[in-house]
Amino acid sequence: TMAPAMGETSPEKLLAPVLSAFWDAPRSWTLETYLRHDGYQGARKALAMAPDDVIAYVKDSGLRGRGGAGFPTGMKWQFIPQGDGKPHYLVVNADESEPGACKDIPLLFAAPHTLIEGIVIACHAIRSNRAFIYLRGEVVPVLRRLHEAVREAYAAGYLGTNVLGSGLDLELTVHAGAGAYICGEETALLDSLEGRRGQPRLRPPFPAVAGLYACPTVVNNVESIASVPAILHRGKEWFRSMGTDKCPGFTLYSLSGHVANPGQYEGPMGITLRQLLDMSGGMRPGHRLKFWTPGGSSSPMFTAEQIDVPLDFDSVAAAGSLLGTKSLQCFDETTCVVRAVTRWTEFYAHESCGKCTPCREGTYWLVQLLRDIEAGKGRKADLDKLADISDNINGKSFCALGDGAAAPILSSLQHFRAEYEQHITGKGCPFDPSKSTLWA
Ligand code: NAD
Ligand code: SF4
Repeated sequence: TMAPAMGETSPEKLLAPVLSAFWDAPRSWTLETYLRHDGYQGARKALAMAPDDVIAYVKDSGLRGRGGAGFPTGMKWQFIPQGDGKPHYLVVNADESEPGACKDIPLLFAAPHTLIEGIVIACHAIRSNRAFIYLRGEVVPVLRRLHEAVREAYAAGYLGTNVLGSGLDLELTVHAGAGAYICGEETALLDSLEGRRGQPRLRPPFPAVAGLYACPTVVNNVESIASVPAILHRGKEWFRSMGTDKCPGFTLYSLSGHVANPGQYEGPMGITLRQLLDMSGGMRPGHRLKFWTPGGSSSPMFTAEQIDVPLDFDSVAAAGSLLGTKSLQCFDETTCVVRAVTRWTEFYAHESCGKCTPCREGTYWLVQLLRDIEAGKGRKADLDKLADISDNINGKSFCALGDGAAAPILSSLQHFRAEYEQHITGKGCPFDPSKSTLWA
C-alpha cells in the first residue's frame, strides 16, 4: 500500500494512508500493535457521546457505504427505529466476492481490530447488543485471525459486558459462509445467517426495518464500518477535507489485471485511474490499457477513454458505469474482450441462485451464445440476441446479480462490437491466448 503522492492530484486531495497505515507493521493484526496506532480512541470518544449524536456525527461526515451502492452510512443507521422494544442487530458483510474486489479480506487479515472498533461504535449508535461478522468461508486464515482478534477484544474489555465501563453490553459472533456469491446480497446473507438457504428477500421491507430474525438490522460492508473509528477520532471535518463534496474521505481501491503492481491502494475518493496507475507503476511494460472495470465485473466496462473519470460514485455514474466496490481490473491489448466477458458470464451463471427466471435462464443462455462466438461458431444474429437477453435480465431480475450479469455484455457490445463481429466473420478468435497472462 502507499499514499497517493504523484500524478496531478491537487495537494488538498492528497492524504497519508489511514485504513492501511500500519498494515506493514510487525504483527499488525494484534491488539498491541493496534493500540500503538490510535487503536480504540474513536470508540472511547463515541461511547462518551449519546447514541443519536454518534449517528448525527457519522451522517455529517458524509461517509458513504463502501460495499458497492454508496448509500450514506449515517442515514442507514438513522433508519433503525428507537424505543421499539425489539432487539437491534449489526451485521457486517464480509462476504467479499465481486470478481476483482480484494480490499475487505486484506483489511481483515492485516488489521481486524479496525473493524472490531467500528463495530463497537456502530452498536452503541444504533443501540445494539448483538453483532455478527459474516465472512466468506473460503478464507480460512482470515477466519482464524478474526477469531483471535475477537478473543483479544473480549479479554481487554472492548467487547462483552460493560464495554470500557460505558454500560454497553456487546456480543460479537464471527460466522463463516459456505462460498456462495449470492450470500453477499444483504437479504440472502441474513437468510443464510438464520440457517436457511441464502436467497434474496423482497425489499422493502429493508433490513433496517425487518432484518435478522425480523428485527431492525444494519447491514454494513467491512470497509464502511472500519472507516468509522478514524472519523470519530480525527473528526468529521478532517474526513470531509478529503475526496469530493458529495463523496468525501479515503478509500481502498483494488488494482488488478495487466498492471505492473497489482494490490490494494488507498487514496481519496475521486482519484482517477490515471493517477492510480502513475502511483503504482502503470500497466505491465510494453503494453497499453484496452478496457477496465471501475467496480468489478458487475459494473459496465470502461475503455482507455475514461481513464480520467474521477472515481467517486457520482462521476462514475455520470460516465455510464458504477463505482461499486472500486475494483479496477485492467486489461491490455492482448486480451480478447469476448473471452473475458464469457468467463465473467460463466461466473454469473454458476452463482445465479435460481430464484427468478430472467437471471436463472438468461445467464445460462448467454453462456451458450458467448462460448459459440468465442469458438468461431457464432452467427450474425447472435449479437442482437445477446443484447436482447441482457436487456431482459437488466432491471427485470429479482436482485442486483442479474443487473451485474448483463453489465459486461451490454457495455462490451457498446465499445467492442467490431471485435465480436470479427469472431463471427473470421470463424474464430483473432487473439493469441499465449500472449495474455490472464484467462489461460
Ligand atoms: P441498494 O442500493 O439497493 O441498497 C444499498 C443499501 O442501502 C442496502 O443496505 C439497503 O438496505 C439500503 N437502503 C436502500 N434504500 C433504503 C431505504 N429506502 N430504506 C432503508 N435502507 C435502504 O444496493 P444493493 O442491491 O444492496 O447492493 C448492490 C451493490 O452491491 C452494487 O452496487 C455492487 O457494487 C455491490 N456488490 C458488492 C459485492 C462485494 O463483493 N462487495 C458483490 C456484488 C455486488
Ligand atoms: Fe437469484 Fe439471479 Fe434472481 Fe438474484 S437475479 S434472485 S441471483 S436468480
